[in-house]
Amino acid sequence: MRFLEAEIDLDILSENLQKIKEFLKKKTIKIIAVVKADAYGHGAEKVCQEIQNKVDYLAVAFCEEAAVLRQAGINSKILVLFDREVNKVFKYNLTPVVFSLDQAKALSLQAVRESKILSIHIKVETGMGRVGIYGNLLETIKEIAALPNLKVEGVMSHLSQTEDKEWTYEQINKLKEIKEKLNRLGMHPLFHISASSGIIYEDALFDAVRPGIMLYGYNVNCPVSVNPCMQVKTKILDIRRLPRGSSISYGRTFITKRNSLIGVIPIGYADGYFRTLSNKAYVIVRDKKVPVVGRICMDLTMIDLTDLPEAKVDEEVILLGSSGSEKITAEDIADWAGTIPYEILTSLGGKAKKRYIKGGKHVS
Ligand SMILES: *Cc1c(COP(=O)(O)O)cnc(C)c1O
Repeated sequence: MRFLEAEIDLDILSENLQKIKEFLKKKTIKIIAVVKADAYGHGAEKVCQEIQNKVDYLAVAFCEEAAVLRQAGINSKILVLFDREVNKVFKYNLTPVVFSLDQAKALSLQAVRESKILSIHIKVETGMGRVGIYGNLLETIKEIAALPNLKVEGVMSHLSQTEDKEWTYEQINKLKEIKEKLNRLGMHPLFHISASSGIIYEDALFDAVRPGIMLYGYNVNCPVSVNPCMQVKTKILDIRRLPRGSSISYGRTFITKRNSLIGVIPIGYADGYFRTLSNKAYVIVRDKKVPVVGRICMDLTMIDLTDLPEAKVDEEVILLGSSGSEKITAEDIADWAGTIPYEILTSLGGKAKKRYIKGGKHVS
């Protein structure tokens, strides 16, 4: 049987949130916790149950994700970042991010039909080149704001390269300019532009911030010492004693250089353990790092246990997490795979069966 388990410590999640709040100091800055992609592979339902009362908003990518959260009893405000869907917005009491005039008109029409005032956030293009109204921003915002039964609760944008200070300030200043113009017109919506990595710029804080990955314990160059809250584990399926010169896996990219003990683990690229990790990654067995050897297969991966002769079948293997003095983070795996920790968390966490820890005990 396949065994791939993610263990998520909800107390660490809450501590990370608390650390972000302390870093922000100014209590007036609202927190929009980003829980898209099933809370970056951590399981949105449990994550939201843990944090919903400690944040101002939750944010998901699509209405469908919000619908699942509502059905799970999550009743806080939910911002929907990237969806044109109209009916679910009303059905599940969601706050859509509006990125086009058409979309705003469709929402307004439905709000009138339902005799409701719908709060929206308007996304404006400042240099991300993804979604957001563009062209004459002020005119379009005014046009949207004038549509019946819509209330512009927020105006937002997204930073595209926080490593570049000059560019980031160009984006910040574009949003600031809109803010000043709208304020002069007597409009005072919430402004927000910063995800986790923008939090280091005080000028990017505006009225709210939208941390995602930081909540889950990755600080992306920010001086907040958050801790990863997810570990991903599997178990040894088999251990084989192979002579020197044996070839391992497809393509024979690894040949044993000594008489070896090769462990087989029941996970592979179908589980989000990327094939690009072949001959690059390490896993932890008995508090010790051991290397992945040979190509990663669809459902199986081989590890070199030669220096760990006491290892046993069924024993725990940590793919992501820490044990004793050894640690493997999503950043490590991302470096080995040539990608970013976001992709590791969503892939590996996304596929794993989840268990949650609170107060040091498993709660589900
Ligand atoms: C994903 C996302 C975030 C969160 O980004 P992190 O880097 O994980 O903090 C914030 N805002 C928008 C619009 C996003 O798409």
